Amino acid sequence: MPVSLPTALRRSAAALFTGLALAAAAQDGPHRQQVPGYYHQAIGSTLRVTALFDGVVPLPRAQIKGLGAAQVDALLKRRYVPESPQGLQTSINAYLVQVEGRRVLVDAGTADCFGPGLGQVAANLKAAGFRPEDVDDVLLTHAHPDHLCGVLGADGARAFPNATLWLDDAELAYWEGPEAEPRTPQALRFIVGLARRALAPYQAAGRLRTFRPGDALPGGVRALASPGHTPGHTSYLIGAGDGQQLLVWGDVVHYHVVQFARPAASYEPDVDRAQAVASRRRLLAQAAREGWWVAGAHLPFPGLGHVRPEGQGYAWVPAEFSPLPPGRP
Ligand SMILES: [Zn+2]
Repeated sequence: MPVSLPTALRRSAAALFTGLALAAAAQDGPHRQQVPGYYHQAIGSTLRVTALFDGVVPLPRAQIKGLGAAQVDALLKRRYVPESPQGLQTSINAYLVQVEGRRVLVDAGTADCFGPGLGQVAANLKAAGFRPEDVDDVLLTHAHPDHLCGVLGADGARAFPNATLWLDDAELAYWEGPEAEPRTPQALRFIVGLARRALAPYQAAGRLRTFRPGDALPGGVRALASPGHTPGHTSYLIGAGDGQQLLVWGDVVHYHVVQFARPAASYEPDVDRAQAVASRRRLLAQAAREGWWVAGAHLPFPGLGHVRPEGQGYAWVPAEFSPLPPGRP
């Protein structure tokens, strides 16, 4: 039976998990409404990725760990990140990848879990010209509500009726097992229930599949283990032809101004911060060395670009707005 989420819980989800949701400009009439939140990027000779905007949340400076406040302030001072009393503006993005004739959605946004102003993935998918029925697979980076809640429709049923949901074996075991609640801080324990609620209708329909790092996934996708933020956190590497590859990472970077330059800085809610730092260092080094395209769930929308070495750390190089080349996907 679908479980509906009471309004009060939705509000507390937004307030407790990532801070208060910012008000939606969409409520203010046509002259205040932002353009639709999608962006297409052609990569290599065979791949197209469409970034889908879900909304923004404020992440507090105080949740940056492993770096002194003065160093954090110095990094932030010259980057002009929008900031409210609740924290630094942080985007939530999902990505629809068209590859090998399949439509693969990586993460699905917040749906109703974070309250007003968020949950825009479904509308932006439609605005980009896709129907929910068109999605063949949903690859989840991990089972937190800002990535997972969007697999449910407003009625609690599967939002993507023809899709198979894919989740790392260890990630599923963690959220279904007895350790999920005790390892989650008391104030955040409701996210365990949110994960189970979102997965349930796919499990009941036989459309939840698990994998281990290195397993072959649909569309020639390779799963790269990147644990730490959660135990089974996974990033996805996808071949694009012409020697190009796209890495879609989930929560490898939360504070782009801080964590590219200083990868040892971590995010307080990471389940295992040392492991998260090691995963971030490894993926940043690989992405910079190999020249991979990167798509990041919490990078400024559309969150597409490259990583380059800079000083003792790295820098983010956002993609340049480009037309789609004619005659190819
Ligand atoms: Zn996240």
